[in-house]
Amino acid sequence: MLTFELIEKHGEHEEVIFCHNKDVGLKAIIAIHNTALGPALGGTRMWHYANEEDALVDVLRLSKGMTYKASAAGLNLGGGKAVIMGDPKKNKSEALFRAFGAYVNSLHGKYITAEDVGTTVHDMEYVFMETPFVTGIPVALGGSGDPSPYTAHGVLMGIRASVKDKLGTDSLQGVRVAVQGLGNVGSHLVEFLEKEGAVVTVADIDPDRVKRITTKYSVKATDPDAIVTSECDVFAPCALGAVINDKTLNHLKCKIIAGGANNQLAEYRHGDALMELGILYAPDYVINAGGLMNVFVELEGYSQERAFDKTKQVYDNLMNVFRIARDEKIATHRAADRLAEARIKAIGGLRQHHQGRTSRPFSTLKEMTNRK
Ligand code: NAD
Repeated sequence: MLTFELIEKHGEHEEVIFCHNKDVGLKAIIAIHNTALGPALGGTRMWHYANEEDALVDVLRLSKGMTYKASAAGLNLGGGKAVIMGDPKKNKSEALFRAFGAYVNSLHGKYITAEDVGTTVHDMEYVFMETPFVTGIPVALGGSGDPSPYTAHGVLMGIRASVKDKLGTDSLQGVRVAVQGLGNVGSHLVEFLEKEGAVVTVADIDPDRVKRITTKYSVKATDPDAIVTSECDVFAPCALGAVINDKTLNHLKCKIIAGGANNQLAEYRHGDALMELGILYAPDYVINAGGLMNVFVELEGYSQERAFDKTKQVYDNLMNVFRIARDEKIATHRAADRLAEARIKAIGGLRQHHQGRTSRPFSTLKEMTNRK
């Protein structure tokens, strides 16, 4: 398929920028999906794509997802993403990331980048040498560092909201939660859940991680193959995507699905199927927005306390999603999309009305967020 056909097929993107520098081996694509709410923020993924079409489709899809995530989170951010074509184990260099940083800088803050799959905080330091429009830089450089504790805290807020909605209680005391995946997000989530008095079961395919967590906290471990269909109040997926699929769907024994993993539904229709089964689903991009909230606080001038405080917003955001789903008699993943689209329309419309205030390009991150 031709490039423009692909771009049209995968959403109404405002801008797609192809970055090429033969001397340093840079082949990258920046996709800006929508800036109605604010500058487009999204990480830079480095991946050994089979071909350019795969890279383009990936960046178009991911940038659109960021628009919805930021909007549903109530942030003044738009959606964007970048991909660098190459093997992250072999093709990285200072020159490559600085050349990429120069491209980011040429967009004057319309796109703000961050680390993602295949890139690290260290790579972002090189990008930062060429542009201020990068987040997720080390704490020592004024950045916010690792987002996962904030993602996990947002997930905890989302579990509280889901438990309130489905089970009618404000407390997690005695609530049975099954956590799949004990990586950055899952391990922090277990810590938070234990403090709340939840009865936690965990699983990971890495036995060392299971041992570390079961030694530190009073939680039970189960088989990684059994956790998805274990009997519990809340199933919290914190590993890979597509965990709700044709194979798992009819074996689920939970009342709620609320976890940090991205793309939990293998297909969109699986969200409708969960509703039919009477399982409350906390849409992934709403419940796992704590990391993005943390980065947003970095744009304003970072404070750890404010970042944790901001993640409490996940509770209200999810309650809104559940209310829309009930009022409109639709599944929660559809309600989340409606919430995100409605905010873009309402606030984006306001922005258009007051055009001119933001017409001059930004020169620093702080100036940009203050003006939004
Ligand atoms: P991670 O790689 O640190 O942890 C993932 C863990 O899941 C690993 O310990 C891995 O061994 C385990 N795992 C993989 N397959 C499994 C299986 N079948 N059963 C049980 N365990 C399995 O990743 P992370 O940063 O903790 O992120 C977890 C999820 O949350 C991902 O989907 C990620 O995209 C999403 N997410 C993360 C953040 C963040 O701030 N880190 C933000 C938003 C979304």
